[in-house]
Amino acid sequence: MIRLYDTLTRRKRDFVPADPKRITMYVCGPTVYGRAHIGNARPAVVFDTLARLIRHEFGPDSLIYARNVTDVDDKIIAAAEAEGVDPSVITERYERHYLEDMGALGVAPPTIAPRATEEIGPMIAMIEKLLAGGYAYAAQGHVLFDVTKDPAYGILSHRDREQMIAGARVEVAPYKRDPADFVLWKPSDPDVIGWDSPWGRGRPGWHLECSAMIERHLGETIDIHGGGLDLIFPHHENEIAQSRCAHGGAALARYWVHNGFVDFGSEKMSKSLGNVVTPAELLAQGHKGETLRLALLSAHYRSPLPWTETLIDQSKTVLDRLYRAAGDAEAGEIDAEVVEALSDDLNTPAALTRLQAIDDAATLKASASLLGLLGSGADEWFRGGADESGIEAKIAERAQAKANRDFAIADRIRDELKAEGIVLEDGPGGTTWRKE
Ligand SMILES: [Zn+2]
Repeated sequence: MIRLYDTLTRRKRDFVPADPKRITMYVCGPTVYGRAHIGNARPAVVFDTLARLIRHEFGPDSLIYARNVTDVDDKIIAAAEAEGVDPSVITERYERHYLEDMGALGVAPPTIAPRATEEIGPMIAMIEKLLAGGYAYAAQGHVLFDVTKDPAYGILSHRDREQMIAGARVEVAPYKRDPADFVLWKPSDPDVIGWDSPWGRGRPGWHLECSAMIERHLGETIDIHGGGLDLIFPHHENEIAQSRCAHGGAALARYWVHNGFVDFGSEKMSKSLGNVVTPAELLAQGHKGETLRLALLSAHYRSPLPWTETLIDQSKTVLDRLYRAAGDAEAGEIDAEVVEALSDDLNTPAALTRLQAIDDAATLKASASLLGLLGSGADEWFRGGADESGIEAKIAERAQAKANRDFAIADRIRDELKAEGIVLEDGPGGTTWRKE
C-alpha cells in the first residue's frame, strides 16, 4: 500500500486511486523561457520516481501522467522581445532543452505534455462556464475570477483572506472588484501574442491552463496533483477554485503532493560550484545526470534539499559503490524493503540506504531501477566515453616499463592517465582502469 502526504488534509493517507486501471496524475510543468535550474529539476525527478512506483504497484499501463508546458506567459513575451524573435522561437528552444536536461537526469517523458497555446479553446470554454455560474466577471477586456463567490477558497493553503491577499502580493487594479480576484483572461496589445475571444483579443491567465488541461485530458477529478511547495498558493488554490466552480463543486484532485525547495544558501557555495545551478552546466562540467538524480533523491521530497558540492561528490561515491556491487548483472526481483520505503510517502533516503545493503547484484539492479538508478552497465559507468584501446596500449607500455624496472616511466604513464581522469588499479589479475 502506497501512502502519500496530502497537503489538503495535512496527513499521510493510504493511496487508493479512483480507478486502479486508470490512475491520473498531473504535475505543473515548466514555463519555457530559459534553461531549467536544479530547483526545477526536483519535481521532475520526484514525480518521475512516484510514477515508477505507481506503475510497479498497479501495472505498467495503470498511470496517465500529464505535465503541461506553459508556452504563453509574460516572461516568454519579454524574452522574445529582448531577442527580437517570435515567442515560438523561445518556447520551442527551451522546451527542447528542458526535455534534454530532464532526460539526462533519467526522467521519462510524461504520458502527455499539453502546451498552453494548443488548449486555448478549452480555456475559453471554462471561462464561459465560470461566467455563466456567476463565479467570474468581465471588466475592461479582462475576465476575473471572483473569489468572494467561492466559499471554499483557501481550502488548500489553509489561509484566511487577509493572509491570502498578503501572500499573493496582489495588485489592486481598477478592473478588480476585490484585490484577491485573479485573472482568467487579459487583453493583448496588437503586437503581442493573443487569441480572439468573446472578451476581445487576449491571452489566458496562467492558473487557467492547468484546470482546462486537466478537465480535457484527465477528467474533472484526478487522483494526484503535484508540484513544488511554492505553487500551493496562489497557483493551486486558484486551480482548485476554477475547477470546483466549473464542475459543480467536484474536487479537482484526491491527493495533493508537494515537493520542498532546493536550498542554495545554507552551506558555502564553493568557488568551483559558483553559481552553477542548472543541470546543463553541471553536465557540461562532467557530472553525470545519474549523479544529479541521486543527489536530488537523497533528501525526502518534502524536506528542503541543501545543494552543495559535497552532496554531488557523495552522490557520485554512492553510485560508484552501487555500480561496483551490481556489476553487469541482469535485473532480478525487486527488494521488498526498497518498495516498502518508497511506499511510505516516497521515502527515498530510506530506499537509498537499503539499496546499499543489498548483496545480490540482480536484486540491487532491479531495485535501483525503481528509483531510476543503475540504468547503465558498470562498464559504461566507469569507462563510458573513454578511448579504450589507447588506454589499454598505455597500460601495456607501463607493464613493460615495470618489467624493465623502469619505474619512473611507469609512474609517468600512470600520472598522464590520471590527468585525463583515468585511474589505474593494480591487482592480482593485472591492471584495470576506470574513469575517475
Ligand atoms: Zn498548474
